[in-house]
Amino acid sequence: MKVIPANPRGYCHGVVTAMRMAREVVAQANGPVYMLGYLVHNEHLTSELEELGITLIDADDRLAGLEEVREGTVIFTAHGISPAVRELARAKGLDCVDTTCSDVDSTHALIVEKVAAGFQVIYVGRRGHPEALGCVGEAPDAVHLVQDVDDVQALTINASKIAVTTQTTLSVWDTATVIRAIKARYPEAEVHNEICLATQDRQEAVIAAAAEADLVLVVGSSRSSNSRRLVEVAEQRTGKPAYLVDSTTDINPEWLRGCAAVAVSSGASTPSLLTRDVIRHLEALLVTG
Ligand code: SF4
Repeated sequence: MKVIPANPRGYCHGVVTAMRMAREVVAQANGPVYMLGYLVHNEHLTSELEELGITLIDADDRLAGLEEVREGTVIFTAHGISPAVRELARAKGLDCVDTTCSDVDSTHALIVEKVAAGFQVIYVGRRGHPEALGCVGEAPDAVHLVQDVDDVQALTINASKIAVTTQTTLSVWDTATVIRAIKARYPEAEVHNEICLATQDRQEAVIAAAAEADLVLVVGSSRSSNSRRLVEVAEQRTGKPAYLVDSTTDINPEWLRGCAAVAVSSGASTPSLLTRDVIRHLEALLVTG
C-alpha cells in the first residue's frame, strides 16, 4: 500500500498567528484569560491552550458567551467577531486580544465598504458558523446569509446595488454553484469570492492526491469547517471514499481493505504531528501488510 500526502496540507497562516498570539497573551496577562469560542477548530490545540491556563467560553453565539466573562483578558478567535461583540467587551472593561485572520478581516472590510456605498450584500456561508455570524453582524439589516441554492431562491432583495461575498473556508465548487444561482436571479450583482488561498490550495491538492488513491483520509476535528470541506470535495470531485479522522485511533481497518494507495490531507488547524502520526501508522501497515 502506498501513502500519498497531499501538498499543501495542514496549518495556514491564520492559525499559526492565532496560536502565537494566544501563547504570548498567557505569558503576559495578569488576570484570567478567556478564549471566546474555539480559538481554532481543533480539539488538540484547544486542549493545549486550556493546559496553558486559557479558559474556553464554548459559545458560537459570541455575545451570549461574553456575558459570562466579568474580568481579565478575552481572546477573539481567528474566525472574527461582530462589532456588537467588540463593543460589549469594551463596555465590560475587558482587555481584548483580536486574533481574527487577515483574510477574514478583509471580508469584514468589504462588507462595511459595500453597505456604506448603499449595497445589499449576499453572504454565502454556513448558518451558525462563527465566521458567518461575525460577517453578518457587520450590518445585519443589509447582509443576507445564503447557504445553498434553495436559500438563493428564497431571497426577496429589491435593490439596484447588490454585492456577493463568501465565507473563507467553503468548497470552491459548491460555492461556484451558489454564485451561479445568485447571478441568475440578480445578473447585476458584483461578486467578491473570499474563499481564502489556503482553503483553495488545500482543496486542489487533496483532489490531486485522491485521483491517485483508492481512499482519502483527512486529519482534522469535526468542528473544523475547512477539514469537513476537504472530505466533501475529495469525495465529490473524484468519487473516492473519504473520511475525517481526528487521529490514528479513528482509522477503521475495514476502510483499508483492498486499498493500494491512500491519500492523506489535513485541515488548516490540524497540528502537523497528528498528520505525521497518521502517515507513519499507514506506512507501518505497508511494512507489516
Ligand atoms: Fe485564515 Fe483561511 Fe486559515 Fe481561516 S483557513 S484562518 S481564513 S488562512
